[in-house]
Amino acid sequence: MTTPDAALDASLDAAPLDAADPLASFRDRFVQGGDTVSYLDGNSLGRPLRRTVERLPPFVQQEWGERLIRSWDETWMGLPFELGDAIGAATLGAAPGQTVVGDSTTVLLYKLMRAALTARPGRSRVVVDDDNFPTDRFLMEGIARELGLELDIIEVDRSIGVTPDQLSAVVSDETALVVLSHVAYRSGYLADMPGLTRLAHDAGALILWDVCHSAGAVPMQVDEWGVDIAVGCSYKYLNGGPGAPAFAYVRRGLQAELEQPIQGWMGAADVFAMADVYVPAEGMRRFLSGTPPVLAMQPITDMVDLVAEAGIEAIRTKSVALTEYALRLTDALLAPLGVTVSTPRDPELRGSHVTVSHARFREVTAALWRRGIIPDFRSPDGLRIGLSPLSTSFAEVRLGVDAIREELERETAV
Ligand SMILES: *Cc1c(COP(=O)(O)O)cnc(C)c1O
Repeated sequence: MTTPDAALDASLDAAPLDAADPLASFRDRFVQGGDTVSYLDGNSLGRPLRRTVERLPPFVQQEWGERLIRSWDETWMGLPFELGDAIGAATLGAAPGQTVVGDSTTVLLYKLMRAALTARPGRSRVVVDDDNFPTDRFLMEGIARELGLELDIIEVDRSIGVTPDQLSAVVSDETALVVLSHVAYRSGYLADMPGLTRLAHDAGALILWDVCHSAGAVPMQVDEWGVDIAVGCSYKYLNGGPGAPAFAYVRRGLQAELEQPIQGWMGAADVFAMADVYVPAEGMRRFLSGTPPVLAMQPITDMVDLVAEAGIEAIRTKSVALTEYALRLTDALLAPLGVTVSTPRDPELRGSHVTVSHARFREVTAALWRRGIIPDFRSPDGLRIGLSPLSTSFAEVRLGVDAIREELERETAV
Protein backbone atom coordinates (compact mmCIF):
# COMPACT_ATOMS: atom_id res chain seq x y z
CA MET A 1 0.00 0.00 0.00
CA THR A 2 1.19 3.50 -0.78
CA THR A 3 1.53 6.62 1.28
CA PRO A 4 0.47 5.41 4.74
CA ASP A 5 2.10 8.48 6.29
CA ALA A 6 0.13 10.89 4.16
CA ALA A 7 -3.08 9.05 4.98
CA LEU A 8 -2.47 9.63 8.67
CA ASP A 9 -1.25 13.19 8.36
CA ALA A 10 -3.26 15.25 10.86
CA SER A 11 -2.92 18.39 8.75
CA LEU A 12 -5.17 16.69 6.23
CA ASP A 13 -7.92 16.17 8.81
CA ALA A 14 -11.37 17.31 7.75
CA ALA A 15 -12.82 17.65 11.27
CA PRO A 16 -11.12 20.96 12.26
CA LEU A 17 -12.05 22.47 8.90
CA ASP A 18 -15.70 21.54 9.30
CA ALA A 19 -15.67 22.77 12.89
CA ALA A 20 -14.32 26.17 11.80
CA ASP A 21 -16.63 26.51 8.78
CA PRO A 22 -19.09 29.39 9.35
CA LEU A 23 -21.38 28.00 6.64
CA ALA A 24 -21.39 24.42 7.98
CA SER A 25 -24.99 24.56 9.18
CA PHE A 26 -26.28 25.31 5.68
CA ARG A 27 -25.74 21.65 4.79
CA ASP A 28 -28.78 20.77 6.91
CA ARG A 29 -30.98 22.79 4.57
CA PHE A 30 -30.47 20.26 1.79
CA VAL A 31 -32.12 16.91 1.22
CA GLN A 32 -29.80 14.12 2.35
CA GLY A 33 -30.34 10.41 2.41
CA GLY A 34 -30.20 7.47 0.06
CA ASP A 35 -26.94 5.66 -0.41
CA THR A 36 -24.80 8.69 -1.30
CA VAL A 37 -21.96 9.10 1.15
CA SER A 38 -19.97 11.76 -0.71
CA TYR A 39 -21.59 13.97 -3.35
CA LEU A 40 -18.96 15.63 -5.49
CA ASP A 41 -21.06 16.55 -8.50
CA GLY A 42 -23.07 19.56 -7.36
CA ASN A 43 -21.51 21.37 -10.33
CA SER A 44 -23.60 19.16 -12.61
CA LEU A 45 -26.78 18.78 -10.56
CA GLY A 46 -27.13 20.53 -7.23
CA ARG A 47 -28.92 18.82 -4.35
CA PRO A 48 -32.52 19.84 -3.73
CA LEU A 49 -33.35 21.98 -0.72
CA ARG A 50 -35.64 20.69 2.01
CA ARG A 51 -37.59 23.91 1.53
CA THR A 52 -38.30 22.77 -2.02
CA VAL A 53 -39.71 19.47 -0.80
CA GLU A 54 -42.08 21.50 1.38
CA ARG A 55 -42.87 24.11 -1.23
CA LEU A 56 -43.98 21.98 -4.13
CA PRO A 57 -47.15 20.34 -2.72
CA PRO A 58 -48.73 23.65 -1.60
CA PHE A 59 -47.77 25.19 -4.93
CA VAL A 60 -49.68 22.44 -6.72
CA GLN A 61 -52.57 22.57 -4.26
CA GLN A 62 -53.03 26.33 -3.93
CA GLU A 63 -51.31 28.42 -6.57
CA TRP A 64 -52.11 25.98 -9.32
CA GLY A 65 -54.97 23.86 -7.95
CA GLU A 66 -57.07 26.54 -6.28
CA ARG A 67 -56.14 29.83 -7.93
CA LEU A 68 -55.93 28.14 -11.34
CA ILE A 69 -55.62 30.51 -14.32
CA ARG A 70 -55.85 33.55 -12.03
CA SER A 71 -52.30 32.82 -10.82
CA TRP A 72 -50.93 34.05 -14.13
CA ASP A 73 -52.07 37.54 -13.23
CA GLU A 74 -51.42 37.19 -9.53
CA THR A 75 -47.83 35.91 -9.63
CA TRP A 76 -46.70 33.89 -12.61
CA MET A 77 -46.39 36.55 -15.30
CA GLY A 78 -43.94 38.46 -13.13
CA LEU A 79 -41.95 35.47 -11.95
CA PRO A 80 -39.35 35.29 -14.76
CA PHE A 81 -38.36 38.89 -13.95
CA GLU A 82 -38.59 38.73 -10.16
CA LEU A 83 -36.54 35.57 -10.05
CA GLY A 84 -34.18 37.03 -12.64
CA ASP A 85 -33.65 40.13 -10.51
CA ALA A 86 -33.05 37.94 -7.43
CA ILE A 87 -30.41 35.92 -9.33
CA GLY A 88 -28.90 39.17 -10.56
CA ALA A 89 -28.66 40.57 -7.02
CA ALA A 90 -27.50 37.39 -5.26
CA THR A 91 -24.98 36.12 -7.80
CA LEU A 92 -24.25 38.46 -10.73
CA GLY A 93 -23.85 41.93 -9.33
CA ALA A 94 -26.68 43.06 -11.60
CA ALA A 95 -29.17 45.82 -10.83
CA PRO A 96 -32.86 44.98 -11.44
CA GLY A 97 -34.41 44.91 -14.89
CA GLN A 98 -31.55 43.15 -16.66
CA THR A 99 -31.99 39.45 -15.85
CA VAL A 100 -34.74 37.07 -16.91
CA VAL A 101 -35.37 33.37 -16.38
CA GLY A 102 -36.45 31.72 -19.58
CA ASP A 103 -35.64 28.70 -21.70
CA SER A 104 -32.84 26.16 -21.40
CA THR A 105 -29.28 27.47 -21.43
CA THR A 106 -28.85 26.24 -24.99
CA VAL A 107 -31.94 28.06 -26.28
CA LEU A 108 -31.10 31.30 -24.44
CA LEU A 109 -27.55 31.14 -25.77
CA TYR A 110 -28.88 30.69 -29.30
CA LYS A 111 -31.30 33.58 -28.98
CA LEU A 112 -28.72 35.97 -27.57
CA MET A 113 -25.87 34.95 -29.86
CA ARG A 114 -28.14 35.57 -32.83
CA ALA A 115 -29.44 38.81 -31.38
CA ALA A 116 -25.91 40.09 -30.69
CA LEU A 117 -24.69 39.24 -34.19
CA THR A 118 -27.66 40.91 -35.83
CA ALA A 119 -26.88 44.01 -33.78
CA ARG A 120 -23.35 44.23 -35.26
CA PRO A 121 -24.11 43.92 -38.97
CA GLY A 122 -20.88 45.40 -40.33
CA ARG A 123 -18.71 42.79 -38.61
CA SER A 124 -18.24 39.25 -39.86
CA ARG A 125 -16.12 37.39 -37.30
CA VAL A 126 -16.87 35.65 -34.01
CA VAL A 127 -14.29 34.63 -31.40
CA VAL A 128 -14.81 31.31 -29.60
CA ASP A 129 -12.45 28.78 -28.05
CA ASP A 130 -11.99 25.10 -28.74
CA ASP A 131 -12.54 24.05 -25.13
CA ASN A 132 -15.84 25.79 -24.44
CA PHE A 133 -18.79 23.60 -23.48
CA PRO A 134 -20.06 21.63 -26.52
CA THR A 135 -23.42 23.40 -26.67
CA ASP A 136 -21.72 26.82 -26.96
CA ARG A 137 -19.39 25.60 -29.73
CA PHE A 138 -22.10 23.74 -31.62
CA LEU A 139 -24.48 26.70 -31.52
CA MET A 140 -21.85 29.13 -32.72
CA GLU A 141 -20.84 26.78 -35.52
CA GLY A 142 -24.46 26.56 -36.69
CA ILE A 143 -25.14 30.28 -36.41
CA ALA A 144 -21.92 31.13 -38.27
CA ARG A 145 -23.05 28.86 -41.09
CA GLU A 146 -26.54 30.34 -41.04
CA LEU A 147 -25.31 33.96 -41.14
CA GLY A 148 -22.18 33.44 -43.25
CA LEU A 149 -19.74 34.47 -40.50
CA GLU A 150 -16.16 33.36 -39.85
CA LEU A 151 -15.15 31.80 -36.54
CA ASP A 152 -11.82 32.64 -34.92
CA ILE A 153 -11.18 29.66 -32.68
CA ILE A 154 -8.73 30.15 -29.80
CA GLU A 155 -6.89 26.91 -29.00
CA VAL A 156 -6.60 26.73 -25.25
CA ASP A 157 -4.34 24.86 -22.91
CA ARG A 158 -6.90 22.48 -21.41
CA SER A 159 -5.48 22.67 -17.92
CA ILE A 160 -6.26 26.41 -17.94
CA GLY A 161 -8.46 28.45 -20.33
CA VAL A 162 -8.55 31.58 -22.49
CA THR A 163 -5.93 34.13 -21.42
CA PRO A 164 -5.97 37.90 -22.12
CA ASP A 165 -2.96 37.54 -24.46
CA GLN A 166 -4.80 34.95 -26.53
CA LEU A 167 -7.90 37.11 -26.80
CA SER A 168 -6.08 40.29 -27.70
CA ALA A 169 -4.20 38.42 -30.44
CA VAL A 170 -7.43 37.52 -32.18
CA VAL A 171 -10.03 40.30 -31.68
CA SER A 172 -10.16 42.98 -34.35
CA ASP A 173 -12.44 45.62 -35.82
CA GLU A 174 -14.10 42.78 -37.73
CA THR A 175 -15.12 40.95 -34.54
CA ALA A 176 -18.84 41.13 -33.85
CA LEU A 177 -18.99 38.90 -30.78
CA VAL A 178 -16.75 37.05 -28.32
CA VAL A 179 -18.24 33.99 -26.59
CA LEU A 180 -16.47 32.63 -23.51
CA SER A 181 -17.15 30.63 -20.36
CA HIS A 182 -16.46 32.29 -17.02
CA VAL A 183 -15.42 29.00 -15.41
CA ALA A 184 -14.22 26.27 -17.79
CA TYR A 185 -16.35 23.15 -17.32
CA ARG A 186 -13.31 20.94 -17.84
CA SER A 187 -10.41 22.50 -15.95
CA GLY A 188 -12.29 24.79 -13.59
CA TYR A 189 -10.21 27.73 -14.91
CA LEU A 190 -11.71 31.05 -13.84
CA ALA A 191 -11.41 33.54 -16.69
CA ASP A 192 -10.64 37.21 -16.08
CA MET A 193 -14.15 38.47 -16.77
CA PRO A 194 -13.46 42.20 -16.38
CA GLY A 195 -10.17 42.07 -18.28
CA LEU A 196 -11.45 40.01 -21.20
CA THR A 197 -14.62 42.09 -21.41
CA ARG A 198 -12.47 45.21 -21.72
CA LEU A 199 -10.41 43.64 -24.51
CA ALA A 200 -13.56 42.74 -26.48
CA HIS A 201 -14.92 46.25 -26.01
CA ASP A 202 -11.63 47.89 -27.02
CA ALA A 203 -12.09 46.16 -30.38
CA GLY A 204 -15.71 47.32 -30.56
CA ALA A 205 -17.08 43.78 -30.15
CA LEU A 206 -19.83 42.51 -27.88
CA ILE A 207 -19.09 39.77 -25.35
CA LEU A 208 -21.33 36.95 -24.17
CA TRP A 209 -20.32 35.08 -21.02
CA ASP A 210 -21.54 31.58 -20.24
CA VAL A 211 -21.74 31.58 -16.44
CA CYS A 212 -23.15 28.06 -15.97
CA HIS A 213 -20.18 26.96 -13.91
CA SER A 214 -19.87 30.10 -11.84
CA ALA A 215 -23.37 31.37 -11.00
CA GLY A 216 -23.97 30.68 -7.32
CA ALA A 217 -20.33 29.82 -6.56
CA VAL A 218 -18.14 32.63 -7.90
CA PRO A 219 -19.08 36.30 -7.36
CA MET A 220 -19.38 38.58 -10.36
CA GLN A 221 -19.93 42.31 -10.87
CA VAL A 222 -21.41 42.26 -14.35
CA ASP A 223 -22.76 45.82 -14.14
CA GLU A 224 -19.49 47.25 -12.92
CA TRP A 225 -17.46 45.22 -15.43
CA GLY A 226 -19.60 46.31 -18.37
CA VAL A 227 -20.55 42.78 -19.39
CA ASP A 228 -22.94 42.81 -22.36
CA ILE A 229 -24.64 39.44 -22.07
CA ALA A 230 -24.42 36.52 -19.64
CA VAL A 231 -26.31 33.24 -19.71
CA GLY A 232 -26.26 30.66 -16.93
CA CYS A 233 -27.70 27.43 -15.71
CA SER A 234 -29.88 27.10 -12.67
CA TYR A 235 -29.55 23.37 -12.00
CA LYS A 236 -25.83 23.44 -11.08
CA TYR A 237 -24.85 25.78 -8.23
CA LEU A 238 -28.38 27.18 -8.15
CA ASN A 239 -29.92 23.80 -7.31
CA GLY A 240 -33.01 24.31 -9.46
CA GLY A 241 -33.41 20.63 -10.32
CA PRO A 242 -33.07 18.60 -13.53
CA GLY A 243 -33.89 20.71 -16.57
CA ALA A 244 -34.56 23.86 -14.57
CA PRO A 245 -34.72 26.90 -16.86
CA ALA A 246 -31.69 29.09 -17.42
CA PHE A 247 -31.32 32.83 -16.95
CA ALA A 248 -29.99 35.61 -19.15
CA TYR A 249 -28.54 38.99 -18.28
CA VAL A 250 -28.52 41.74 -20.87
CA ARG A 251 -26.91 45.07 -20.02
CA ARG A 252 -29.63 47.70 -19.81
CA GLY A 253 -28.15 49.96 -22.48
CA LEU A 254 -28.01 47.08 -24.95
CA GLN A 255 -31.53 45.69 -24.51
CA ALA A 256 -33.27 47.89 -27.06
CA GLU A 257 -30.62 47.04 -29.67
CA LEU A 258 -31.14 43.28 -29.45
CA GLU A 259 -33.82 41.53 -31.44
CA GLN A 260 -33.95 37.85 -30.70
CA PRO A 261 -34.86 35.32 -33.38
CA ILE A 262 -37.64 33.32 -31.68
CA GLN A 263 -40.36 35.95 -31.80
CA GLY A 264 -43.16 34.50 -29.76
CA TRP A 265 -46.19 36.08 -28.21
CA MET A 266 -44.66 36.28 -24.71
CA GLY A 267 -41.94 38.61 -25.96
CA ALA A 268 -44.34 40.93 -27.75
CA ALA A 269 -45.04 44.44 -26.52
CA ASP A 270 -48.61 43.66 -25.53
CA VAL A 271 -48.97 39.95 -24.80
CA PHE A 272 -52.73 39.82 -24.73
CA ALA A 273 -53.35 42.24 -27.59
CA MET A 274 -53.11 39.24 -29.93
CA ALA A 275 -51.70 41.72 -32.43
CA ASP A 276 -51.33 41.23 -36.19
CA VAL A 277 -47.61 41.89 -36.20
CA TYR A 278 -44.81 41.32 -33.73
CA VAL A 279 -43.49 44.32 -31.88
CA PRO A 280 -40.90 43.40 -29.23
CA ALA A 281 -41.55 44.37 -25.62
CA GLU A 282 -39.39 47.00 -23.96
CA GLY A 283 -36.87 45.62 -21.48
CA MET A 284 -36.13 42.01 -20.66
CA ARG A 285 -39.49 40.59 -21.69
CA ARG A 286 -38.44 40.80 -25.32
CA PHE A 287 -36.14 37.84 -24.67
CA LEU A 288 -39.02 35.54 -23.77
CA SER A 289 -40.62 33.47 -26.51
CA GLY A 290 -43.39 31.28 -25.14
CA THR A 291 -45.07 30.53 -21.82
CA PRO A 292 -42.46 30.52 -19.04
CA PRO A 293 -41.82 27.26 -17.12
CA VAL A 294 -43.28 28.46 -13.84
CA LEU A 295 -43.38 25.05 -12.16
CA ALA A 296 -39.68 24.52 -12.86
CA MET A 297 -38.80 27.90 -11.39
CA GLN A 298 -40.04 27.07 -7.89
CA PRO A 299 -36.87 25.31 -6.64
CA ILE A 300 -34.57 28.00 -8.06
CA THR A 301 -36.31 30.55 -5.87
CA ASP A 302 -35.39 28.56 -2.76
CA MET A 303 -31.71 28.33 -3.62
CA VAL A 304 -31.40 31.95 -4.67
CA ASP A 305 -32.84 32.91 -1.28
CA LEU A 306 -30.27 30.67 0.40
CA VAL A 307 -27.38 32.16 -1.60
CA ALA A 308 -28.57 35.64 -0.62
CA GLU A 309 -28.78 34.57 3.03
CA ALA A 310 -25.26 33.07 3.09
CA GLY A 311 -23.78 35.82 0.90
CA ILE A 312 -21.89 35.12 -2.32
CA GLU A 313 -18.58 36.35 -0.89
CA ALA A 314 -18.80 33.94 2.05
CA ILE A 315 -19.77 31.18 -0.39
CA ARG A 316 -16.68 31.96 -2.46
CA THR A 317 -14.46 31.85 0.63
CA LYS A 318 -15.73 28.38 1.44
CA SER A 319 -15.45 27.30 -2.18
CA VAL A 320 -11.78 28.28 -2.21
CA ALA A 321 -11.18 26.45 1.07
CA LEU A 322 -12.83 23.32 -0.36
CA THR A 323 -10.86 23.35 -3.60
CA GLU A 324 -7.61 24.06 -1.72
CA TYR A 325 -8.35 21.11 0.54
CA ALA A 326 -9.13 18.84 -2.40
CA LEU A 327 -5.79 19.82 -3.97
CA ARG A 328 -3.84 19.19 -0.74
CA LEU A 329 -5.46 15.77 -0.46
CA THR A 330 -4.71 15.07 -4.11
CA ASP A 331 -1.04 15.97 -3.67
CA ALA A 332 -0.70 13.81 -0.57
CA LEU A 333 -2.86 10.82 -1.43
CA LEU A 334 -3.30 10.61 -5.21
CA ALA A 335 -0.15 12.10 -6.74
CA PRO A 336 1.96 9.15 -5.52
CA LEU A 337 -0.32 6.91 -7.63
CA GLY A 338 0.35 8.93 -10.77
CA VAL A 339 -2.63 11.29 -10.58
CA THR A 340 -2.02 14.76 -12.00
CA VAL A 341 -3.87 18.02 -11.35
CA SER A 342 -5.66 19.57 -14.36
CA THR A 343 -6.95 22.63 -12.52
CA PRO A 344 -5.12 25.91 -11.90
CA ARG A 345 -3.19 25.95 -8.59
CA ASP A 346 -3.86 29.63 -8.02
CA PRO A 347 -7.28 29.96 -6.34
CA GLU A 348 -7.81 33.28 -8.12
CA LEU A 349 -7.78 31.35 -11.38
CA ARG A 350 -10.11 28.59 -10.21
CA GLY A 351 -13.85 28.10 -9.90
CA SER A 352 -15.48 25.61 -7.57
CA HIS A 353 -14.30 22.30 -8.95
CA VAL A 354 -11.01 20.48 -9.17
CA THR A 355 -10.18 18.18 -12.05
CA VAL A 356 -7.64 15.42 -11.57
CA SER A 357 -6.39 13.13 -14.31
CA HIS A 358 -5.38 9.50 -14.61
CA ALA A 359 -5.70 6.95 -17.42
CA ARG A 360 -7.90 4.68 -15.25
CA PHE A 361 -10.39 7.25 -14.04
CA ARG A 362 -13.23 6.01 -16.23
CA GLU A 363 -13.19 2.66 -14.38
CA VAL A 364 -12.48 4.33 -11.05
CA THR A 365 -15.50 6.64 -11.39
CA ALA A 366 -17.78 3.69 -12.19
CA ALA A 367 -16.54 1.85 -9.09
CA LEU A 368 -16.99 4.98 -6.94
CA TRP A 369 -20.60 5.44 -8.09
CA ARG A 370 -21.37 1.89 -6.95
CA ARG A 371 -20.13 2.91 -3.47
CA GLY A 372 -22.21 6.10 -3.30
CA ILE A 373 -19.18 8.34 -3.91
CA ILE A 374 -20.27 10.62 -6.75
CA PRO A 375 -17.75 12.71 -8.69
CA ASP A 376 -18.00 12.71 -12.49
CA PHE A 377 -15.80 11.66 -15.36
CA ARG A 378 -14.92 13.84 -18.34
CA SER A 379 -13.29 12.13 -21.28
CA PRO A 380 -10.51 11.26 -21.84
CA ASP A 381 -9.07 10.95 -18.32
CA GLY A 382 -10.51 13.67 -16.07
CA LEU A 383 -12.28 13.10 -12.80
CA ARG A 384 -14.08 16.21 -11.61
CA ILE A 385 -14.48 16.88 -7.91
CA GLY A 386 -17.31 19.40 -7.81
CA LEU A 387 -17.57 21.34 -4.57
CA SER A 388 -20.92 22.97 -4.07
CA PRO A 389 -20.06 25.30 -1.20
CA LEU A 390 -23.32 25.31 0.79
CA SER A 391 -23.99 21.58 0.61
CA THR A 392 -20.52 20.00 0.77
CA SER A 393 -18.52 19.32 3.93
CA PHE A 394 -14.77 18.91 4.20
CA ALA A 395 -15.38 15.40 5.58
CA GLU A 396 -17.20 14.54 2.36
CA VAL A 397 -14.19 15.65 0.34
CA ARG A 398 -11.81 13.58 2.50
CA LEU A 399 -14.03 10.54 2.20
CA GLY A 400 -14.20 10.97 -1.56
CA VAL A 401 -10.45 11.35 -2.07
CA ASP A 402 -9.74 8.37 0.20
CA ALA A 403 -12.13 6.30 -1.90
CA ILE A 404 -10.52 7.48 -5.16
CA ARG A 405 -7.19 6.30 -3.75
CA GLU A 406 -8.59 2.90 -2.78
CA GLU A 407 -10.25 2.32 -6.14
CA LEU A 408 -7.18 3.49 -8.02
CA GLU A 409 -5.00 1.10 -6.03
CA ARG A 410 -7.42 -1.70 -6.90
CA GLU A 411 -7.48 -0.72 -10.58
CA THR A 412 -3.73 -0.50 -10.89
CA ALA A 413 -2.83 -3.55 -8.76
CA VAL A 414 -0.96 -6.17 -10.74
C1 LIG B 1 -24.12 22.78 -18.10
C2 LIG B 1 -23.72 23.72 -19.15
C3 LIG B 1 -24.57 24.02 -20.21
C4 LIG B 1 -25.88 23.29 -20.32
O1 LIG B 1 -26.77 23.73 -21.27
P1 LIG B 1 -28.28 23.15 -21.19
O2 LIG B 1 -28.98 23.82 -22.29
O3 LIG B 1 -28.80 23.45 -19.83
O4 LIG B 1 -28.19 21.67 -21.38
C5 LIG B 1 -24.16 24.98 -21.12
N1 LIG B 1 -22.95 25.60 -20.99
C6 LIG B 1 -22.10 25.30 -19.98
C7 LIG B 1 -20.79 26.00 -19.85
C8 LIG B 1 -22.45 24.35 -19.03
O5 LIG B 1 -21.62 24.05 -18.04
